[in-house]
Amino acid sequence: MAKSDIRLVGGGISHESCTFITRFIPGRWRGEGREALDYHRGKRSNLAGMIDVCEREGVELIPTVYGAPDSRGRVLNDSYYSMLNPILEGIEKALPVDGVLLWLHGGGATEDEDDLEGHVLEQVRKVVGDEIPVVTPLDMHANVGPKMIEHGSFYCGYDTYPHLDKYERSAEVTQLLIDKIRGKIDPVIAYAQPNMIITPVMQKTGYYPMKAVIEKAHQIEAEPGILSATVSAGYAYADVPYPGVTMMVIADGDRELAQRKADELSQFCWDLRLDFLARVVPMERALDMALAEPEGPVVLTDQADNPGGGPPQDGTHALKAMLDRGVTNACVALMRDPEAVAKAIEAGVGNTVTMKIGGKTEPWVGDPLEVTGTVRTITDGMYVSEVYDPGMVIDMGRTAVLNVRGIDVILTEKSKQAKDLQLYRSLGLEPTDYRILLVKSCVHYRAAHEPIAKRIIELDLPGWHGTRLAAFPWTKLRRPVFPLDVEALGISELATG
Ligand SMILES: [Zn+2]
Repeated sequence: MAKSDIRLVGGGISHESCTFITRFIPGRWRGEGREALDYHRGKRSNLAGMIDVCEREGVELIPTVYGAPDSRGRVLNDSYYSMLNPILEGIEKALPVDGVLLWLHGGGATEDEDDLEGHVLEQVRKVVGDEIPVVTPLDMHANVGPKMIEHGSFYCGYDTYPHLDKYERSAEVTQLLIDKIRGKIDPVIAYAQPNMIITPVMQKTGYYPMKAVIEKAHQIEAEPGILSATVSAGYAYADVPYPGVTMMVIADGDRELAQRKADELSQFCWDLRLDFLARVVPMERALDMALAEPEGPVVLTDQADNPGGGPPQDGTHALKAMLDRGVTNACVALMRDPEAVAKAIEAGVGNTVTMKIGGKTEPWVGDPLEVTGTVRTITDGMYVSEVYDPGMVIDMGRTAVLNVRGIDVILTEKSKQAKDLQLYRSLGLEPTDYRILLVKSCVHYRAAHEPIAKRIIELDLPGWHGTRLAAFPWTKLRRPVFPLDVEALGISELATG
């Protein structure tokens, strides 16, 4: 093989840190060096997009460490530096390089750093200096702070929520980096931040108003001189100075053009702000609506307890309401409760057991529910995803299905979002047979559930991933900000239409 003309060094930390949660559970996934690349090769992930472009372009990608702990509270310092230090050492060892290709989420915080990614980029700059381009793809839930703007060269963020274009956006930023190093283009990025936070349930890119903003970004991307346009919807559950929306436009050499287009996109989003206010349904009303549907499945979404954005996934409010109402032929996906899983396993398949499930982690999740149910299934909780992150092996930990008065409650040891129908089928359950599916997910479930759902109802429940932002104990957030400080920022328009 011919020696490649370009050497890139890679590494990354991907974490979405719900700062309102005080518990951090390390783990999930960490890849070292070549093994990390081998794990992702051929999949539709961020790293796979980077690998494919580098191989196609004959570019060498030198891997360091890639860490992606499960989303929870702030990353503990020990855990953070156990990832950051080997990344920095690996980059130093790889020098000289032509560029740094990181994998960062954008919504991270550590015990000491409100801006995990900004801190990573600052430290990387200390190693490589100011001249070497340093880039990364970003999740659509990136909160872009001053350090990210100062230290990174440019970014491409996802255009989709559910996130179905991780591969494409990572390939895009990799291609821009390589083309820049070869002197074919001169990417310059500009930022604009409308002063607004959008609750994730209103960030669905398949629906107005977010759909309109993404379409506007795509129009800008098609204009002459523009290389890329990103709408980062932001991660709402971080009590840091700057959570919220960021527009990022990359132009070819013309910074003034990039800024003009970023400002235009920002204004477009701001003008739609009232349409971004969440519309969610109280639980009792949602059950009325679901039970009135002639056919199932009706999907009810407890996005407030969505583990993908941090919450513990053992909230009981929705299940309690379903049991109180006498709902049958329903399934709860999923409830994390390792104690309950152990008790179900001890009881054994086909046997009846009485125990407390859920409600064991935080005050807002509701009380544990004392239930008597029959153990239907016990598995190791492993399945291969088909629609969301296809080909990825998902590990729910040991998993038990407990049938409680006609409701199948899927109890798991680990927090996993209900993103793919294979999670049901791996347990011998057929999702299309149920009248009601209660999913603890915000938007990602839609990729697999929309095709089978007769109706989807987004619930108004308490929780760190919910829509009641004004009630959160903010201390560091900039004020005023829309929609929390509505009077200062023009909510009176609501009254006048
Ligand atoms: Zn995201």
